[in-house]
Amino acid sequence: MRDRDIFQMALGLTPPWEVEFCEFSPEKKRLDIRLSFPRGSVFVCPECGGSGLKAHDTVDKVWRHLNFFQYEAWLSAKVPRSKCDQCGVRLVSVPWARPGSGFTLLFEALGMSMAGTLPVKTLAGRIGVQDTRIWRMLHHSVDAARARQSHAEVSSGNLEKFKICAHPCR
Ligand SMILES: [Zn+2]
Repeated sequence: MRDRDIFQMALGLTPPWEVEFCEFSPEKKRLDIRLSFPRGSVFVCPECGGSGLKAHDTVDKVWRHLNFFQYEAWLSAKVPRSKCDQCGVRLVSVPWARPGSGFTLLFEALGMSMAGTLPVKTLAGRIGVQDTRIWRMLHHSVDAARARQSHAEVSSGNLEKFKICAHPCR
């Protein structure tokens, strides 16, 4: 099995995305995995979900991924912008990262799990990322979790059921 195939499987890539090449540099202490898609691939509009859209152009993106043993691992790709009749030109969503993030979903998940037990500054040092980027990631996760919650059934009579503090501390 070639290294490209191993990383393709390990990353769980689905068509049209594939590993174009991998470059491992012990001197630079990093693994770079370049992702690409075959010419003529079609994409989904991130706004309306319209499918079958060709790449209008591409934007270079880089994401920090989970370490490869003791080496930093980075993914990069030319991410297509689709041209949708309804929504115009939009950067398509990639399956390994949320829009606008410089981390892969797996890297964010690791960071979030460590953030439960470590102060942000310590966590930032451990994973080699600026603490301001960790804070942005945490704020995003907390905001997303809050947006998913509904407090419609909460009343003063059933606070215990929802484990919400009734003390006037907030
Ligand atoms: Zn659209």
